[in-house]
Amino acid sequence: MNKVTIIGGGWAGLSAAVHAVQAGWQVRLLEAAPQTGGRARRITRHGLALDNGQHILIGAYRDTLALLRLVGVDPEKHLYRMPLTLRTPEGAGLRLPGIPAPFNVLAAIASAQGWTWQDKWAFIRTALKWQRQNFECPEALTVAGLCQGLPPAVMAWMIEPLCASALNLPVHSAGARVFLQVLKDALMGGPGSSDMLIPRCDQSLLMPDAAVDWLKQRGAELITGHPVHDLSAHMPGPVVLACPAREAARLTQRFNPAWAARAGGLQHTAIATVYLQANTALHWPFPVMALRSNAQAPAQFAFDKDRLSQLPDLRGVIALVVSACVGDRDSVTAAVLQQVREQLHLPGATVLFSVLEKRAAFACTPGVLRPSARVNENIFACGDYVDGPYPSTLEGAVRSGLQAVALLGGPHMGENTA
Ligand SMILES: Cc1cc2nc3c(=O)[nH]c(=O)nc-3n(C[C@H](O)[C@H](O)[C@H](O)COP(=O)(O)OP(=O)(O)OC[C@H]3O[C@@H](n4cnc5c(N)ncnc54)[C@H](O)[C@@H]3O)c2cc1C
Repeated sequence: MNKVTIIGGGWAGLSAAVHAVQAGWQVRLLEAAPQTGGRARRITRHGLALDNGQHILIGAYRDTLALLRLVGVDPEKHLYRMPLTLRTPEGAGLRLPGIPAPFNVLAAIASAQGWTWQDKWAFIRTALKWQRQNFECPEALTVAGLCQGLPPAVMAWMIEPLCASALNLPVHSAGARVFLQVLKDALMGGPGSSDMLIPRCDQSLLMPDAAVDWLKQRGAELITGHPVHDLSAHMPGPVVLACPAREAARLTQRFNPAWAARAGGLQHTAIATVYLQANTALHWPFPVMALRSNAQAPAQFAFDKDRLSQLPDLRGVIALVVSACVGDRDSVTAAVLQQVREQLHLPGATVLFSVLEKRAAFACTPGVLRPSARVNENIFACGDYVDGPYPSTLEGAVRSGLQAVALLGGPHMGENTA
């Protein structure tokens, strides 16, 4: 009676499992892949432990950071914390100094390189308007619509890279409401909330491996390499679906066709991570550099993996991230290599390998209808696509796991204890 089955062991499923154990449930987690972690996991190539995709967290990821601590991971040790920095190798762009908001934003704008005073004033006026409106806007607005009138330099050096990394969509198709929500949490969420937190270790070490150990120590049953094909085998006990939207749609079709149609109807966008080997030492001012990005030079950010991890294996290894990626893996890789040679002045850089995740994020377009966390009285859903304030992010996934367990309640709820 107190057993819950969780289907999927990504960050949402692991969050649900940990919180269900805390609520008193006996957890059985079934994961299709040979390892947990889902879209944020370690992959080992050429003997190097890297990731299926380079990730960035921010200080506002409240529930993710709490989950890390809960399973015994020290965020201060495992994450490299730096103020929000969108600086190119030439020094263009902005960097928030480590002082309280809103002074950090004002100081960053004042010192922004490549912006005229008119650009700076236009952004301050717009940001104050967003704040007056409590970072709310009509559902149908795109980020481009929200930012209408902002000068090209502000769009190119701030809004476009932030939008691509937060929503994985270009400004003309990204929903402004969710964008403003992330901006609000980052800028108004208290000290450190806008900081970038970059993993010093691989994504599996950051949370999934520790969560698996934590769960096993508390008697949870975790089975990997076990794809679930039919939910009825796991009924009548409660089930939490923590698999991606399309798979959740397939599994729920006969239980709630309307829910399944909404989950199955979501569109997805791609992210590529290209790992390169530099043949000279990198002397970047920061371990993460913004790049000038366009269709021919598609990467938005470069990460110095050596400086972040301080592992001798990763000396000279750079991860390049292409958010809102279009095109096939080989052509994107070739374009990124050329971009790195030109913009990072690394003519001898060579490709280690690249990963193209075609369904990296659901398309968070204006007014997109996301399925709710309750499928029926016995089936619950979590995952970054489930209705919530965040786009496809680790924080969205972790929060949705918490939300599913809150709906599930405790195992003894409703029992007659008299
Ligand atoms: C390349 C890339 C870069 C990203 N960058 C960032 C970033 O910088 N910052 C950020 O916050 N977010 C980022 N994200 C998004 C973030 O990784 C995801 O939002 C998050 O990992 C989603 O977790 P999830 O648990 O909802 O889904 P998933 O990770 O997809 O987990 C679902 C799990 O269910 C399993 N499964 C599927 N079908 C079945 C079945 N039938 N039976 C059992 N198990 C099943 C899958 O194998 C998988 O393990 C990035 C994503 C990618 C791909």
